[in-house]
Amino acid sequence: QEKQLRIDLNTNYADVVVDIGKMLVGESCRKKMTSLNQKKQRRDLSRAVCALLNSGGGIVRMESEDRNYCFQKHGIGLDIENSLRDCIGSNEIGEYFTWMQEGSNLLLFVKTWSCGGLEQGSAEPTKPRLCSLSTGLFYRSGTSVFPVKSREAPGFLRGKKSSAKCGNANGPSAKRAWLNFFGGANETPLNIQEHNIQDAADRFLKKDQVLVGEVLGFTETTHIEFKEYSTKNILEYMNKNLPKYVSAFANTEGGYLFFGVDDNGRVTGTHSNVEKEALEETVAETMRSMSVYHSCGSGALGVQFQTHILDVYDQAGCSQGYICAVHIERSCCPVFHGDPESWMVMDGKIERLRAGKWMELMTAADPDVSALATEFRTELSLANGPPLIKPVYSRAGLQCAAELQEHLYPVGSNEIKWKPETICTDLFSEYPGLEDLMRKQLHGVTTGILIFSRSWATDIGLKNNPDVVCDALLVADNQYPVLFTVVRDTSCVTSGTWRETARALKQKLVNDGGYTSRVCVIPQILQLNGTKDQREVAENDVPRQETLHDSTSPYPKSYILTSRDIPAFLRALVIVVLGFKSYLSDHLGCEIFNLLTLKQYELLSKNLHKVRKLFVLGLPGTGKTIVALKIIEKIKNTFHCSAEEILYICENQPLRNIVKNKGCHAVTRATFLRGSFPHVKHIVVDEAQNFRRDEGDWYRHARSIVKRSGGIFWVFVDFFQTTYPCGCGLDFSKMYPQEWLTKMVRNAGEICHAMLNLMKEILQTRSIDMPCEVLEKLLEQAECAHSLTGSFQKQIIRSEELAKYVAELCKIYVEQGYSLRDIAILCSTQPAAEQFRLELQPELERQLSKHRVRRVLGLAEDISENIIVLDSIRRFSGLERMIVFVIHPDTPQGQLFDNLVLCAVSRANTKVHLLH
Ligand SMILES: [Zn+2]
Repeated sequence: QEKQLRIDLNTNYADVVVDIGKMLVGESCRKKMTSLNQKKQRRDLSRAVCALLNSGGGIVRMESEDRNYCFQKHGIGLDIENSLRDCIGSNEIGEYFTWMQEGSNLLLFVKTWSCGGLEQGSAEPTKPRLCSLSTGLFYRSGTSVFPVKSREAPGFLRGKKSSAKCGNANGPSAKRAWLNFFGGANETPLNIQEHNIQDAADRFLKKDQVLVGEVLGFTETTHIEFKEYSTKNILEYMNKNLPKYVSAFANTEGGYLFFGVDDNGRVTGTHSNVEKEALEETVAETMRSMSVYHSCGSGALGVQFQTHILDVYDQAGCSQGYICAVHIERSCCPVFHGDPESWMVMDGKIERLRAGKWMELMTAADPDVSALATEFRTELSLANGPPLIKPVYSRAGLQCAAELQEHLYPVGSNEIKWKPETICTDLFSEYPGLEDLMRKQLHGVTTGILIFSRSWATDIGLKNNPDVVCDALLVADNQYPVLFTVVRDTSCVTSGTWRETARALKQKLVNDGGYTSRVCVIPQILQLNGTKDQREVAENDVPRQETLHDSTSPYPKSYILTSRDIPAFLRALVIVVLGFKSYLSDHLGCEIFNLLTLKQYELLSKNLHKVRKLFVLGLPGTGKTIVALKIIEKIKNTFHCSAEEILYICENQPLRNIVKNKGCHAVTRATFLRGSFPHVKHIVVDEAQNFRRDEGDWYRHARSIVKRSGGIFWVFVDFFQTTYPCGCGLDFSKMYPQEWLTKMVRNAGEICHAMLNLMKEILQTRSIDMPCEVLEKLLEQAECAHSLTGSFQKQIIRSEELAKYVAELCKIYVEQGYSLRDIAILCSTQPAAEQFRLELQPELERQLSKHRVRRVLGLAEDISENIIVLDSIRRFSGLERMIVFVIHPDTPQGQLFDNLVLCAVSRANTKVHLLH
């Protein structure tokens, strides 16, 4: 039983501090300790260090047992140093660790682990993804058993994975993949002799009885191990030793473990008091306790084994116990002796990783986006980041993280830039004295950036503190990064919690932003006095500030930023602030992140206390729904409200379902009109152009709800995608304040081009009631952000040939490597979609018969499943897929025809087939 290590969040550091208690430090003191005590203390330290390395870094605090201890004079102790080397599996302790004495406490500053990039000329990272003291895995080499070392683990797990994938774990290609792990040592496959030895063992086990002293006639090999153990304690002995052998044999090539045979292959038998059933049960029990984690999908359970028990007699025919032989089969997937020794900080506690979770993290790799390679650029890769990061990609054609950083957080030489200017201007006019107060803090700072925000807490997804006027993050050359938090009155800042934003920001820079150098964020509280007299402010203010400042303890000098670190630091910050979970995550089966555009970010940075009502006019494909979801999150944090208090309203059930799945309170307009929603305070309306006025005044209903609560009311609308000829219930003359989204980010170049032409048509015909002047200006600003060309094909296909034509194209796409979930087929109306389904279903099944798919077609609701969506254009509104077929678009009396086509076309990321 190991003691639970305590994480102390109430220290003077805005960091994760693990308190491991008393420790005897110093070379000479350590030498005098018993080795058991040494080991115990090292163990606690290693657990804390390992957890911090794996979770973004932090500080281990220990109290010196010796009151006269002095770091400068006594040092740390060689055994401790060695255990740190063991943690990182190399000699680079200077890269990860810094020691510092603070009174009677000794602090060890731990930098995050990172796997350090790809090995030259290889697709594999140079280091494992996680730090582990042991792996819990064993393998067999010759007649010995070895533990799989942490640094060998990635290769070992990959070898197992690829051999399991081959289906037949014993097939020749599987064996080759597997043998790669062992390098040259085991390169020859089973030779004839070893085969014969295994056959001999097989034959031997078919005997009914054997004589004590009999010689087996075969020797120990990779596949055979003898254990002589003839005391009564054999069951205990088996319990203790069997697991290691089971792991080793199962992880290598399988084999036999004989109990009751000595090293020379001579039968000794077990103790005669041991019962046969007890032996069998002990083996079975051990096997049940072994953990196997199948990533092969075979659904196989446990270790496959057989127990053979042979009676042993002496010459006189008296029983001499048994030979117990366990035949362990080679396992398709890794077999663990126990959980690996690897820890993480989880929910404020240090937890040991279970074998399954450990394997998942160890083998995590960037998704295969080779099919999307032209569309995406890698911003953050698992191959060179800290253990907890997720891969981040930016869209080709959009600004990448480095360019976004240049825009948002530029750093000049010999000046401090104050950014963003709009927020600075607003804040300084609202709070006279703020500018002076900040200027005073910059004494002696020459180069860098001071980044203001109404609340850095909400910017990084935390709840804001209403007493905070603003925060400013200083990132400057030759300084520690500092997060200034400006409050009206320092007395309203609860001790202990005010460092939380700085701590979370530091952790996020590493765990989300992928920053791998040493990093800290020093929190500092500043008091803004409301009086107009600046001198008075200054005098009143200084002593208080100083006490607060002093209560933050220093970091080692190596945590000071240099001009070389700053760009990487700010790029990590861009990823923290602009990253959002991509729609592609579901598609690729793992979480990946994309980056917001500057305009999207600007909308999200609005001061919600001021901009309560906002109309966001967007062009198709500008990411309105993403911004809508992000603003919901921000409302939640700014006003401290529950999910139930914010309502998302859209027209269609499929889009509503997707938003609901993200944990938001979402309804369709129809449901909204029927309810009163007494708990709702804030409302976000998406796709408002699809709303109808003739079924009730949704706008007035929504207004009265937010008016009652003084809440937020944001409406996202795209008039070009209007498909109902009767108005949607918005009064154009009253749609203020207004913001525009004109950067088309979701559609490839050729599709954008077609969309722009359609929008021009729509404006020319002016068949509906629309604010044409505004739309004209919107269109003028339209900008296709995609460097991927994609394709847009318009063809005339006769109705009777349509199903066959579409089915054939689908087959071609599937054969090119697209999956069913890349395709959507859209018809004008629901009845038209139902009709086309009847025609298409048999054709598709015929074309795709080779691919053995159970279900080919689904509805818009099934968008996250691996099916082709066949539905109406309207029901697919707000959703998207790579390839979209538009089937014979048609509207009654030719009304709003272009709008309907635009709606359909804008749903495609890369390819459109418009079939007339
Ligand atoms: Zn398996």
